[in-house]
This record gives sequence, structure tokens and C-alpha cells, in this order.
Amino acid sequence: CGIVGYIGKRDVAPLLLEGLQRLEYRGYDSAGIAIQGKPAKGAQSAGLKTAKAKGRVRELEARLPKRFAGTTGIAHTRWATHGAPNDTNAHPHLDADGKVAVVHNGIIDNAAELRAKLAADGVELASDTDSEALAHLIGRSQAPTLEEKVRHALSMVEGTYGIAVLHADFPDRIVVARNGSPVVLGIGEKEMFVASDVAALVSHTRQVVTLDDGEMATLKADDYRTYTTEGSRTAPSPTTVEWEA
Ligand code: GLU
Repeated sequence: CGIVGYIGKRDVAPLLLEGLQRLEYRGYDSAGIAIQGKPAKGAQSAGLKTAKAKGRVRELEARLPKRFAGTTGIAHTRWATHGAPNDTNAHPHLDADGKVAVVHNGIIDNAAELRAKLAADGVELASDTDSEALAHLIGRSQAPTLEEKVRHALSMVEGTYGIAVLHADFPDRIVVARNGSPVVLGIGEKEMFVASDVAALVSHTRQVVTLDDGEMATLKADDYRTYTTEGSRTAPSPTTVEWEA
């Protein structure tokens, strides 16, 4: 239902919770958040941290661990289509190693088939959702870059999606993709936002890039690039949104 993401220098959890609250008007049954943990001095990555809760955004907020610091993260409000509204089925969904986190809007039509294939390969699926399959497909891809892992996974998926992806081994970026479910990038000063709806962005930036169907993007703190799911670069110009506060 709702997606928010941020990469920059600020403490990410409060920013994401605020973004989710701005999307509450759309309705939802559960909420969740994943962040890149703050690495110890000298370490490259600290791994992903997640929290999820059935119910309102403030219930998610109450459930956040005390130490939930980081400057990169993604969050979601879910409107269940596959699997009951509960803590486990809330997004983000992780792969088996806990290295990949995915938030997904939309419906994966061949989810049953993908889930059966994953199960036959020995993957234990934690949730009943269509979306979880994406996390495993990305995590199991042998492609070298996160962008290619996501493209590889999406090539197996039929249906609609707006997604945002974190990977513990690629802590400097968020990869997003759109097919039939809106994804908007918010361009800031040494920080980038992503959301499914400009309402979650406008308090931070008015410079936005709306992805087309079949388009993906890589967000880094000081840079972004867009390309098709086939891998060729695209060059949409940012537009300025008018918004009455
Ligand atoms: N189909 C997914 C689910 O049921 C995503 C639903 C949504 O767009 O919130 O978890």
C-alpha cells in the first residue's frame, strides 16, 4: 500500500515513521521498517535491522528497539492481498540470510508458483505473502550487483509492483522498481527519498522524479540513476511539485 525510503545523513527511523504517517490516509492493516544498522568503527556494514507490527504506525513506533540507529532505510504500510494481516506478513520481508529486505506494493500473480519453487529448493518461507518470494529471489541471485540481482528476480515475476530493496552487502544504496504501482523519487541535498506517493516527500523536497512502468532506480545519498528493467539508462528530468501545506 505505502512505501517510504531514505538514504542520507539523518537518523532514518523518525523520518520513515513520519513518512508512513503521511500515507496513513490511504488505509492499511500493518506497518514495518528495515534499516541498515550503524556499522562499528572500521566495519563495512552492521547488517539489517527490522521491526514490524500489525495495526497502526504508532504501534510500530512503540515496538522499535531502543538501538535502532541508521541513516538508510525503507518502510511500508500494508494492505493485505495475500495472507492475513499479522506481524509476520507485514513488510519488509527478508531473504533466508537476513541480508535482503524488500517492501512491495501490488500483487505478484505467479506467487504460488514462485513460492512452490523456492520451497522445493529448500527455502523456508516465513510468511504467507506473495511479496516474500521477491526477497528470496533477490537473495539467491548469483548476479554480482544489487541492481542485477533485483533485475534477475523481477524477470521471474508476473504482476504489479512498486518495490524498495536494501541489501546488507550494498549498504550505500537503495534499489527501487516500478511496474503498475507508483514509485516517486525525492531529490534532496546530499539525501534522497523514495515513496509511493508525493505526500510522503513534500515536507522534505519538492524536486521529484516519477518512475515509469518498467523503470528502476538506484538511490545513493548524493546521487541517483534510473534505468529500465532491461538495464538501459533513462534520463527523466526532475519536476517541481506544487503542494499547499
Ligand atoms: N500483495 C502484498 C501483500 O499482501 C502487498 C500488499 C500492499 O500493496 O500493501 O503483502
